[in-house]
Formats: sequence, structure tokens, C-alpha cells
Amino acid sequence: MQQIMYKSTRNSDLRVTASQAILQGLAPDGGLFVPETLPKWDGDIDILPEQSYKQTAYQVMRLLLTDYTEDELKSCIDKAYDSKFDDPRLAPLVHKGDAYYLELFHGKTIAFKDMALSILPHLMTTAAKKNHIDDEIVILTATSGDTGKAAMAGFADVPGTKIIVFYPKDGVSHVQELQMRTQRGDNVHVVGIDGNFDEAQTGVKNIFQDAAMAERMKKNHLRFSSANSINIGRLVPQIVYYYHAYGQMAAQGVIKPGEEINVTVPTGNFGNILAAYYAKQMGLPIRKLICASNENKVLVDFFRTGAYDKNRTFKVTSSPSMDILVSSNLERLIYRITGEDSEVTAKLMKALSSQGVYRITDAMQEQLSDFYGNYADEQQTAEEIAQVQRETGYVIDTHTAVASKVYRNYVIESGDETPTVIASTASPYKFANVVVPAIYPSLEDKSDLEMIDILNKISRVKIPQAIEDIRSAPILHSTFIKGADMEKEVADWLKLN
Ligand SMILES: *Cc1c(COP(=O)(O)O)cnc(C)c1O
Repeated sequence: MQQIMYKSTRNSDLRVTASQAILQGLAPDGGLFVPETLPKWDGDIDILPEQSYKQTAYQVMRLLLTDYTEDELKSCIDKAYDSKFDDPRLAPLVHKGDAYYLELFHGKTIAFKDMALSILPHLMTTAAKKNHIDDEIVILTATSGDTGKAAMAGFADVPGTKIIVFYPKDGVSHVQELQMRTQRGDNVHVVGIDGNFDEAQTGVKNIFQDAAMAERMKKNHLRFSSANSINIGRLVPQIVYYYHAYGQMAAQGVIKPGEEINVTVPTGNFGNILAAYYAKQMGLPIRKLICASNENKVLVDFFRTGAYDKNRTFKVTSSPSMDILVSSNLERLIYRITGEDSEVTAKLMKALSSQGVYRITDAMQEQLSDFYGNYADEQQTAEEIAQVQRETGYVIDTHTAVASKVYRNYVIESGDETPTVIASTASPYKFANVVVPAIYPSLEDKSDLEMIDILNKISRVKIPQAIEDIRSAPILHSTFIKGADMEKEVADWLKLN
């Protein structure tokens, strides 16, 4: 089998193995690790419908994480995808109305981040062993709401690791905040910052790139890594569920093996949809990648005009996990459409951080024809939740509703009737305070906990354990700082000399 090495989007000469890329998270030059080539999937598309999620996971991941042995990889997969998930199918595909929703929220924290963050800690501790790393690994994470909890659920009390999560204190839902502030584990630290997700993410990237900090960490036998989707160890497990979804579409008789599907993905940091793009590049028959944004629609404008411009007002919406103006993983796509030119990529990213804007060439833009971008505003999102519930009885969360609405518009605009999978990224229970009034506006004054019980009556879906847990759990974390003090907070909590 072909060995796959990883290189930085800002320096094509820097080559590391998959396990080293996972350990490091971000490349030392600030770039993101990408596979040198995307291997062709070598499975049998005719038997994909009969395979279990874990079988498909192994088939896909072995092609990209080539320095892991079969035993190592299978052991990581077994530990990740077990009874932590409340549905034995792990990621069921449900048909409602004209749409196929791929439910990616059956993990411990009821958002799609669990699909990758259940396995990342195992991939990382295996990587540390393989590379003879004795330093303790400190996971630094910026979260727009869901990554933080999912990462802590994965790393809590994992020997040899610590995890620090920064979240925008006024930018996450009440349930998301409670989930994080009640997190147990001696190795976890949760910090609310005075700023939005982009500031949290930039702060984390700055700490990663600070040479003096790296030196201090080394002296203290510590090293940083990342649980954000900038870590390739997040992206690779996400490719799996597009293969799985494709198999389910065939199993349900919607397509014949070999026929094309579209995918619609509610997008923030561009990790989930990039995984779909990688799946397509590896040979999965995907026609269109439909990129759905909320009112923070930088990506929509980018696909239309070729200019990425973050100079605009940051909006706090009802789909907080997509409230992002700097979609980090777009850098990986940019790198690809420059013809893997790390100098050009580095220049564009520098323009983004200094001027807040960059423009790609026409030749680059032509390579984006696989993508379609559109957005749903707040009112449309609420209406979509209500419409889907009214017509099918199915209740979707705010993020999924953005995707569902954008898909509806895409079909009207394009007439494309290719069967389409919509990535359903969170349980509606996580956003009951928005979902319930979207369906019954007169109930908008109820408390969050009342909303959860009402949602239970509307949807007839069992209240997930993750929600039961926060009803009674004590608040364990109350650290709030200014965005500018993130590095100091890290040094203090780690008691760095
Ligand atoms: C993180 C998240 C998204 C956005 O995914 P990206 O990979 O950042 O584009 C969408 N919906 C939910 C519920 C999320 O948690």
C-alpha cells in the first residue's frame, strides 16, 4: 500500500508521517497538514451497503493513516465507536420528505464532533507511543460550542494528556455552556473569553506559533496539540461517514452503487465539508458539495466572487457552531486549487490576517465548480424547522435547518434532482430554546428545561443522556478572561516554570 506523508500548506518541503501530523496538530509555520496525495479508495462499492460503520472506518482510515498498523487502527476504532453512541448504527440515515438526513449526533455530546473526537484521543496516544514521546500532551482548543465538550469528553482523564478549552462566553447556547462548565476530569480546564470564536481560534493559533512558549513547554516536558479540525486526525475520521452515508443510500434503494449523490453540509470552520470533498477526491461518487452558511456568509460570497473578505460584522445567530468568519480549513482547499503551491497559499493567508481579505485567480475559481454556496437567515432557519416538522413530524436542530433550507433553494435554483444527503450535525435537544418556539412561537417564554420537555412531546424522541446529565450536574468551571490573556491563562494553569 502507498505510504502517505503529510506536508504543510505553507511549506511543501516539510514532510511528516500521519502520526506526527496528528501529534503536532498545526504545522510549525502556522500551516495545516495535508496528505501529499489523496489515495483512491480501494473498497468494493457493491458491498459498501452491507458494511458496518467500523468496517468502512477501517477501510478508509488505513489509506490515509498509513504509519498506523492494522492492530493499532482497529483498536482505536473499537474503542471509539462503542456503546458511547446511543444508536448501534452510529450514524443512521433517515428519510424525511424529499431529504435524507445523516444523523451524526448519536455520540456522547450529541453533536457531529463526536464522530471524530471519540477516536482522536486514541489516535493521539497511539501516535505518542509510536513516536516515543514522553512529554505530556496539552490539547489547546477553541470552540464555537460543540468541539469543546466533545474534545473534553474524549480526553477527560486520558493518561498523559491535559486539555484546555476556550469558548466565547456570549457566543454559545445555554446548553452548550452548561455542558462544558459541568465537565469532570482532573486534566480539563474550561475558560470563557470575552470575544467571539474567531478571536479564540486566533489566540490558540498564536500560542501554537509562539517559539518562546514552545521552549517553555519543552522545559516542562509538555507539548501542545490540537483537537480542532485543523488537526488532520479530526478530518480523516470525518471522511468515513460520507462513505457510510453513500452505502446507506444504496442500502435503502435510493441509488444503485456507482450512481452519484450530492451532500449538503452546514458549515462553519469548513472541516466537515472538506472531509466530503476529500471523499469525492478519493473516488466516492459525489456530484455537488452544497455548502450552507448562516448569516455569517463569508463562504457564500467567496464562492460567488472569489474574494474571501472577513471585514464585516460578526453575527451571533441561533446556529452558534457556524458563527465563524475565518474558516480555517478553507486553507486546505486553497492549497489544492493553487496546484499545491505553498508560497502562494502562505501569501494569501498572510493577506487574510493583515488585511482581512484575499482574492483568488479565475483559474483557481474554476476549480471550485464542485461547490455550491448559499445561506439561510435567522427567519428562514426558524421557518425551515417549522416546515419540516409540519410536513414530516421530524424535528431538526438549527444548524441542520440551515442546511435543509439551503438544499431546498438549491433544488429550486438548479433543478438538480440528484439524491442528496444532508449532514445533520446536532440533536435538536441542544437548541431546544430555539427549536420549540420556531414550531410554536407562543412558547418562547418557557425556561430551557421546560423547552426540553416540550420538545420531547413534540418529537417523541427520547431525551438524550447528555441532556439528562446537565440537569443535575454541578458547575465545576468558572474561569473568565479577556481574549488577550489566553497565553497567560495557559501558562498559569499548567504552572509553567
Ligand atoms: C462544528 C459544527 C458545525 C460546523 O462544522 P465545521 O466542520 O466547522 O464546518 C455545524 N453544526 C454543528 C452542530 C457543529 O457543531
